[in-house]
Amino acid sequence: GGAARLYRAGEDAVWVLDSGSVRGATANSSTAWLVQFYSSWCGHCIGYAPTWRALAGDVRDWAAAVRVAALDCAEEKNHEVCRAYDIHFYPTFRYFKAFTKDFTTGENFKGPDRELQTVRHTMIDFLQNHTDRRRPPACPSLDPIRPSDVLSLIDNHDGRYVAILFESNSSYVGREVILDLIPYENIVVKRALSADKAFLDKLGVPSVPSCYLIYPNGSHGLANVAKPLRSFFSSYLKSLPDVRKKSLSLPEKPSEEENSEIVVWREFDRSKLYTADLESGLHYLLRVELAAHKALAGAELNTLKDFVTVAAKISGIFLTSHIKWVGCQGSRPELRGYTCSLWKLFHTLTVEAAAHPEALDDTGFEGDPQAVLQAIRRYVHTFFGCKECGEHFEEMARESMDSVKTPDQAVLWLWKKHNQVNNRLAGHLSEDPKFPKVPWPTPDLCPACHEEIKGLDSWNEGQVLLFLKGHYGSSNLVDTYSA
Ligand code: FAD
Repeated sequence: GGAARLYRAGEDAVWVLDSGSVRGATANSSTAWLVQFYSSWCGHCIGYAPTWRALAGDVRDWAAAVRVAALDCAEEKNHEVCRAYDIHFYPTFRYFKAFTKDFTTGENFKGPDRELQTVRHTMIDFLQNHTDRRRPPACPSLDPIRPSDVLSLIDNHDGRYVAILFESNSSYVGREVILDLIPYENIVVKRALSADKAFLDKLGVPSVPSCYLIYPNGSHGLANVAKPLRSFFSSYLKSLPDVRKKSLSLPEKPSEEENSEIVVWREFDRSKLYTADLESGLHYLLRVELAAHKALAGAELNTLKDFVTVAAKISGIFLTSHIKWVGCQGSRPELRGYTCSLWKLFHTLTVEAAAHPEALDDTGFEGDPQAVLQAIRRYVHTFFGCKECGEHFEEMARESMDSVKTPDQAVLWLWKKHNQVNNRLAGHLSEDPKFPKVPWPTPDLCPACHEEIKGLDSWNEGQVLLFLKGHYGSSNLVDTYSA
């Protein structure tokens, strides 16, 4: 499998969940949970990991109310649990309210533009939607108080600081500061809306957001904060004399059991195609990706049928029961693997269809030069867990797949599009430094594929076609694991 390590328990503020801990953590919990179900082979998830880590760090002090977690659906031991939670695409975000008794798959949590601030605000919206009975007990009220409440707080001071954030209706600053101060004692934070201008004038609040402070001795006035920003308010309040961090009795963070799966790098021949990669890819595709769909019907079912027909008729690959990457090894466990094998499987299918068109006899696809590409296209669009990838691929297909008139052109079309994807992903966080994204095949793999025309590197497409047919042809398949 390859233990993926996008998040590390202990090092990141992200709570790392797995099949053993996710139910226990989210069920009947005194806090809410925001869980990212991701897949370590999903390039988009790799690219998003720094944002998720930053979010978890940013809301670390909210942990008694809501926790930020992640679960890797690519890990073999988690396959079952991701199916139970109905996860089809990565990343999928789910919100679990506090005190959920029965098993639930959580509420869909959309962070569409996925900027840290937007996600944080959405978390607050979800927290505010808790009914009173199920609000995390450590979460203070996030609703605004009225002017009369402000006055009674001033009259009845109880020896603690009371901070009142005045803000406009659409502002989240007050709620953020309330949550930031959860672990601090000797202070209470409230928020009030700025609708009543006369009242603000009376208190001497010139603009919003502003922080009005009632001191333990009963005196009160505007807090002197350099900039009206969440971080300035929070840090000002946290550093008031006698305001201290409580030692919260939080449940233990699920500790990461030492995973003995140490990945050993094995040398292999880059000019060869390894059966192990294709079989492992097909295993993952059928037993994990498709198995995640509880029931298939209609168009989905047809898409699967066509893909399996094409794959079974022309690939001659047998299903294995374990995953082992050879030519698709990554230099780190979260890199390459499944998506690499999927490309190789797709190229193998187009090459085999060109070499043995008769393989598709009696399938209803005979004589259709686009049969394989269309089956791939629909598979990717319907089932591939990386939704972003599926959408990009569909866009390319819509643009130019129609121009494919022969099986050879199908081979070249997929090659060209794959290079286009490589080009787009060069320099991305999901790029394996051992396998830089460069136009492929490189000159050392196929000298004849490259020409210089007026000093510019150009493809000789006839040679590329020959090379692809050799590289992805059955005679280049290696059954053993070493070169
Ligand atoms: P891969 O690109 O996976 O290639 C695997 C192997 O194929 C290479 O090692 C090489 O031997 C061979 N190869 C390379 N180029 C070609 C070529 N032009 N023709 C034939 N063979 C070639 N990731 C994202 O982050 N965003 C996306 O939008 C995205 N879209 C994808 C769409 C599809 C349909 C697929 C299958 C994957 C997509 N991915 C996407 C994943 C990404 O393309 C890579 O698979 C992943 O980053 C792993 O890269 P890799 O180094 O193993 O090489």
